[in-house]
Amino acid sequence: MDYANLRRRSLLTAALALPFPALGQAKCGAPTPADMEGPFYKAGAPLRASLAEPGSKAERLLPAGIVTSADCRPLADVVLDFWHADASGEYDHRGFRYRGIVKTDAQGRYLLETNLPPPYMGRPRHIHVKAQRAGGKILTTQLYFPGESRGADRALVVKMERAGGELRALYDFSLFG
Ligand code: FE
Repeated sequence: MDYANLRRRSLLTAALALPFPALGQAKCGAPTPADMEGPFYKAGAPLRASLAEPGSKAERLLPAGIVTSADCRPLADVVLDFWHADASGEYDHRGFRYRGIVKTDAQGRYLLETNLPPPYMGRPRHIHVKAQRAGGKILTTQLYFPGESRGADRALVVKMERAGGELRALYDFSLFG
């Protein structure tokens, strides 16, 4: 899927399913908690709306939501640097498979397309992310999935939604730094 197409879908998704105020995952007014970076972060991931691999057996997943400030204003141009494991539970150490950056739009919304990562090495299923507003501090954290988030902060669990054949992972960030 090309970026323009995904962008249109993003706006449609936002218009239909993500009205402001946010869906209330990370409550506006409470900062999104930090979590371990883990050993597999790699700087320099490309800016792209889709990480999905055409040949992947893993289900297509659309993480989406909005990013707000401490005073609950939507934040544009926030950098969200995502990385996660492939269907075998492996991270790409050579290239940037399942690594990519998206930015929030003027209304603070983001949308990513990827494939659902598996649990691996005894860890619950998760997606890593670094979030940073312009001039702000980097928030390093992880997003978890309902019913399989043992040991995780509940404030980091996405809301899953299946709509129109799409599997969405809805999560709103609240950046205080
Ligand atoms: Fe990990």
